[in-house]
Amino acid sequence: MADPAECTIKVVCRFRPLNSAEVARGDQYIPKFKGEDCVVIAVSKPYYFDRVFQSNTTQVQFYNAVAQKIVKDVLDGYNGTIFAYGQTSSGKTHTMEVIEVFSCCFICLTKVLKIVTVRFCAVGLVPFYYYFLKGKLHDPDMMGIIPRIVQDIFNYIYSMDENLEFHIKVSYFEIYLDKIKDLLDVSKTNLSVHEDKNRVPFVKGCTERFVCSPDEVMDAIDEGKSNRHVAVTNMNEHSSRSHSIFLINIKQENSQTEQKLTGKLYLVDLAGSEKVGKTGAEGTVLDEAKMINKSLSSLGNVISALAEGSTYVPYRDSKMTRILQDSLGGNCRTTMVICCSPSAFNDAETRSTLLFGQRAK
Ligand code: ADP
Ligand code: MG
Repeated sequence: MADPAECTIKVVCRFRPLNSAEVARGDQYIPKFKGEDCVVIAVSKPYYFDRVFQSNTTQVQFYNAVAQKIVKDVLDGYNGTIFAYGQTSSGKTHTMEVIEVFSCCFICLTKVLKIVTVRFCAVGLVPFYYYFLKGKLHDPDMMGIIPRIVQDIFNYIYSMDENLEFHIKVSYFEIYLDKIKDLLDVSKTNLSVHEDKNRVPFVKGCTERFVCSPDEVMDAIDEGKSNRHVAVTNMNEHSSRSHSIFLINIKQENSQTEQKLTGKLYLVDLAGSEKVGKTGAEGTVLDEAKMINKSLSSLGNVISALAEGSTYVPYRDSKMTRILQDSLGGNCRTTMVICCSPSAFNDAETRSTLLFGQRAK
C-alpha cells in the first residue's frame, strides 16, 4: 500500500526558446540560469525551484527528469497530478502533449482516413494512415509527457508476468467557464462533481474508456481534441481559456494472491495565466478572465497549503481542486510545471508566473 506520509509536491520551471517572431523583432532573451535550480530575470531576486530547465531542454530530457518517476509511483498504487501552468504560448501544450503542426486539418483527415480504412477495408490506405499521418501527428521527438507516460505504462504492463491483470481506463474533459465538458462525448456539456461512498470526488457521468494499447489511448486523445475543435471558432483562443484534464486510471489484480492495486494520474493543461487588460474586457471575455483567475488562484492556494503542511486545504473553492482532491493530498505525487517565455516582451507575465510557482514551494 502507498504511504500517505510520502506525499510530495514538486515545482519545476521550463523556459521555451525565443520563437521566430520574437527573434525577428529583436527581443532580448532575459532569463539567466544559476545551477540546476535557480533562474534570475534581469536584476530581480532569484527564483528557486526543484529544477529549472533551459530553453534547449529536449522533450525526452524533460520527461526523464520530471515525469518518468511518477509513472512508476502510479503503477505502485499512488495517485498523481502533473500540471502545466503559464501564460498562453509559454509551452504548456508542448510540454504535456504533442504539438500539431496543422492540427485541425490533420485530425479531421486522420479521422476520415481511419473510417475509410476500417469501414471499407481500403487496405491500400492503411500504411498511409499509420506511417504518414499518425507519424506526422505524433512525431516521436516532439512528443510531450502524455504520450511518453502512456508508452511507459504499457511497456511496464507488457514486461509483467501473466498473473497480473491490468484494467486501464481514460477520461478526457475540459473546464470552461466553470462548466465541465466531456471531450469523449460531446453530448455531455455540463457535468457535475459528486463524491463516492469513500468520499472520493469524481465527475459524474464522464466517459471512462477502457484501453488496451498506447494506440487506443492516443486515439482517445485525438478524438477528444477533435471534439474540442468542433464547437469553437478559434481553437487557440479557446484552449488558452479552458483547462483540459486527461485522466489515466490503472487497476492491477494479481490472480494468485488476489492483491489489488489502484493508481490514477491526472494530466492537466491549464488555461493561460495571463492577466486580461482591465479596460476593454467585457461580456464573455471578462467572465472567462474571472473564472480563470478564480480557479488558478484557488489551485495556487491548495498547492501552497499542501506545501506548507497546513491542516486546512481549501479544495472546495473550485471545481478543479475538488476533482483533483484525492490526487493532490495524501496518497499522491504532484508536480507543477511552470512554463515561461524567455522574451523581454513578456517580462511582467514571466515574473508573475515565476512568483506563482514560488508560492507553491
Ligand atoms: P501554450 O500551450 O502554453 O499556449 P504552446 O505549447 O502551444 O503554448 O507553445 C507555443 C509555441 O511555442 C508552439 O509553437 C510550440 O511548438 C513552441 N514551443 C513551446 N515550448 C517549446 C520548447 N520547449 N521548445 C521548442 N518549441 C517550443
Ligand atoms: Mg496550449
